[in-house]
Amino acid sequence: MIRSVDQLDCHGKRVLIRVDFNVPLNDAGEVTDDKRIVESLPTIRAVIAAGGKAILMSHLGRPKGERNMKYSLRPAAERLSRLLGRPVPLAPDCIGDETVAMVNAMQPGDILLLENLRFHKEEEANDQTFARALAALGDVYVNDAFGTAHRAHASTEAVAHLVPERAAGYLMLKELRFLGDALRTPVRPFVAILGGSKISGKIDVINALLDTCDTILVGGGMMFTFFRAQGKQTGASMVEDDRIEMARNVLDAAVAKSVTIALPTDVVIADRFAADAATRTVDADAIPADWMGLDIGPETQKVFSDIVTKAGTVVWNGPMGVFEMEPFAAGTRAVAEAMVQATKHGATTVVGGGDSAAAIAQFGLESGVSHVSTGGGASLEFLEGKELPGVAALEV
Ligand code: AMP
Repeated sequence: MIRSVDQLDCHGKRVLIRVDFNVPLNDAGEVTDDKRIVESLPTIRAVIAAGGKAILMSHLGRPKGERNMKYSLRPAAERLSRLLGRPVPLAPDCIGDETVAMVNAMQPGDILLLENLRFHKEEEANDQTFARALAALGDVYVNDAFGTAHRAHASTEAVAHLVPERAAGYLMLKELRFLGDALRTPVRPFVAILGGSKISGKIDVINALLDTCDTILVGGGMMFTFFRAQGKQTGASMVEDDRIEMARNVLDAAVAKSVTIALPTDVVIADRFAADAATRTVDADAIPADWMGLDIGPETQKVFSDIVTKAGTVVWNGPMGVFEMEPFAAGTRAVAEAMVQATKHGATTVVGGGDSAAAIAQFGLESGVSHVSTGGGASLEFLEGKELPGVAALEV
């Protein structure tokens, strides 16, 4: 069983909260997307409202175990302070005497953000001694960092076993509820939309979804490896030659399991990989030798949209085309719009993190779906049916 933060008695206690403030920064060191900070507010507010002392810890970027101020959490502390309308001091480190003194000086209702965990290589090594130093800062532990839950790190895994009490924060619980319900008790038809560049990174999720979904829509770069498995020519499109057999096995498994895999019937092709390339729309089996497919075509958009709008549950991971370039964004936009329509009809619609989350944000459609995950890798591993170490460690 995993407890919720509201089941803990936080009054007067030091509440060590693992948040995911791994937010994008621009060259000036400003936070360019604060979704992850905003999503952590309910947990932080609940802890301080209950009279707890909120000690927040996070990583940012990949400083590779070294103290590099380019990866300081100061911008996150400032943004959190602005969002809450109260001071959020930043400790100079996540462990050590000065940090301990700052924690000891806290009053109920205070907030303190610790400096980047990954300034210590022991964090990613899930080191016991380092985890013990973190655990010593808190009376209770709350993990609200879904985006890092697929990693067994000191602040997500080891520390959870070293504190007397542990619980999940509201964001973590929300992620687990939406993704978990979709897999365990989906309202049917259950439709998965899979895209992105390569089949190799998605094979485990495809195999897992073959056991739960009714229909899988395939777009993105991976469609061409499936086309080759069907004997089609794919011109200069991205193909993983060593995965054609794998694609063939997936198509056979789908037939055996009565799952429909819908592949595009038309594609938008370009004469080179560029936003100003010459483009054409052709049938899926008519891609000329020197041209590459960079998006699903309009006929496919319509077919995919019809399937999505009639679904009871939709899970989406991976763009349908090179959405970062406007001429190849229409397919991804079409499925995003269809998900919004499905949501209006009562479907539960979940967008995996990473590129699909970036795409739906780019189209301004985030608020039209049921849930946009804050974790790219974590949501993918969850959909693969794997146990996330940061979640398992919260079991009591
Ligand atoms: P992934 O990280 O595997 O989910 O892949 C995401 C990337 O796949 C995005 O940056 C897209 O631009 C890219 N992508 C989608 N469709 C294609 C395509 N047809 N050819 C090449 N890249 C693609």
